[in-house]
Amino acid sequence: MKDQRLRQRLAERHAAHLYRRPRMAEGPSTPHRVVDGRPVLSFCSNDYLGLASHPQVIAAFKQGAEQYGVGSGAAHLVNGHTRAHQALEEELADFVGRERALLFSTGYMANLGVIGALVGRGDAVFEDRLNHASLLDGGLLSGARFKRYPHADANALAGLLAESGAGERLVVTDGVFSMDGDLAPLPALATLAHQHDAWLMVDDAHGLGVLGARGRGTVEHFGLGAMEVPVLMGTLGKALGTAGAFVAGDADLIEWLIQAARPYIYTTAMPAALAEATRASLHLVDEEPWRREHLRTLITRFRAGAEQLGLRLMPSDTPIQPILVGDAGEALGLSQRLWDAGIQVTAIRPPTVPQGTARLRVTFSAAHSLQDLDILLTALCKFRNLWHSSPSGGEPCKSIE
Ligand SMILES: *Cc1c(COP(=O)(O)O)cnc(C)c1O
Repeated sequence: MKDQRLRQRLAERHAAHLYRRPRMAEGPSTPHRVVDGRPVLSFCSNDYLGLASHPQVIAAFKQGAEQYGVGSGAAHLVNGHTRAHQALEEELADFVGRERALLFSTGYMANLGVIGALVGRGDAVFEDRLNHASLLDGGLLSGARFKRYPHADANALAGLLAESGAGERLVVTDGVFSMDGDLAPLPALATLAHQHDAWLMVDDAHGLGVLGARGRGTVEHFGLGAMEVPVLMGTLGKALGTAGAFVAGDADLIEWLIQAARPYIYTTAMPAALAEATRASLHLVDEEPWRREHLRTLITRFRAGAEQLGLRLMPSDTPIQPILVGDAGEALGLSQRLWDAGIQVTAIRPPTVPQGTARLRVTFSAAHSLQDLDILLTALCKFRNLWHSSPSGGEPCKSIE
């Protein structure tokens, strides 16, 4: 019977330690909060700048709700597109230095929308193996030939592009990879895309607001512009602390997306109040650069401290700081130990990451204090002997900084 088969599938997930369930949090997404009924210190939010509960963002949201109500009532192309949406699109375009920008209700939808609008049957899409699920899904759904290249391997991509006889060609990459925290080799990808007359699309969900001297993201970090990266996607739910996403590019690209991107056309516009809140966030990225600087300090100190403890870090210079554990069961056990000690750090296991590379994924936010960091390092020190791959005999515990 179909009910039994479904129950069987759930049981299999359980048995394989792959069962997932959401924990329930109280209050805003801040480092210190109550989760599943107990106070914890969290290192797993993408609210990198701590803007999700910033008073100015909340005030703009409230004011937006007063002015526009809650629901937008319709899709952008019907009558859901307000002055607030228009202003945010213009400010986002300015922010990233592109002619135009277009709002989407989520990053997932933006990715499905852009890829599907740019390529289809007879075309080809080239994706980094470690791209975000929404980019992979977008590539598969588009109907274009789907080619994956090894992680960050521009040479492999060059080979694939050279042998491709497809019509339109689209190269798609994360700017910052969400499970590793490393950066795509954007200058090399941009050169290749240019040589082969292919589109280059960068999903900068984790770079926007965080990287680059002015927080413009991975593209700014590498000193690239609209010529090199013609299709730039960013999300609003991470460093900007709100929700939704946008795609930025030249006027023709945006006009084409309005005509052809189905997740833009066939969905209700985000609430105008959310657009107002996001405008406040954008201003704060410029007005409170200390948030980015403090994040830098946390990252640098964490890496120094973790290396002192003999932990295996990954080559990441971003707020995503995975600690390699290897075995999935061990990673889960460590995450549980930390949880028992009142610290929330997610264990990431296959199939999200390759076999044998299970890890603890630590993310930092400007809302973390240096004391929060010390608490984490002290706990990691205490538990490091529990994992076999950890070299024993590092420094003795405590006295971190
Ligand atoms: C979070 C994320 C998305 C999805 O964005 P949402 O707005 O949460 O749907 C897309 N791409 C990357 C790389 C992400 O990290």
